Amino acid sequence: MDDLSVFCCQNPECSDYGQRDHGNLTVCGRYGPQQRRLLYCRSCKARFSELKGTPLFAGRLPPDKLRALLEHLADGCGIRQTARLVGVSKDTVIRYAALAGEHAGQLHDELVAFSPSDH
Ligand SMILES: [Zn+2]
Repeated sequence: MDDLSVFCCQNPECSDYGQRDHGNLTVCGRYGPQQRRLLYCRSCKARFSELKGTPLFAGRLPPDKLRALLEHLADGCGIRQTARLVGVSKDTVIRYAALAGEHAGQLHDELVAFSPSDH
């Protein structure tokens, strides 16, 4: 079974916008070489990629740490330095750095999409 509990609707007009694990999302297809899932929101009938719906890589870091981590990387800090500044393990930084590279073009969008309750 697909675990969609980490995803939320990305349509700001939707009543379930930003609500994770709300039962409104289903997988309606797959696309691309990596078979990314295409998600469908039953509440507003929007479709979007799982990358869009992922709360920033489904990470386990709190948003503020993740943001700091990415900012340090963007500022050219090394892995080790970033890990120390943010207070996470080197492995964590490496993992997110790799993901951030893969997502480079979308990074800003995902940061914006992440955590809608964060005003
Ligand atoms: Zn929706």
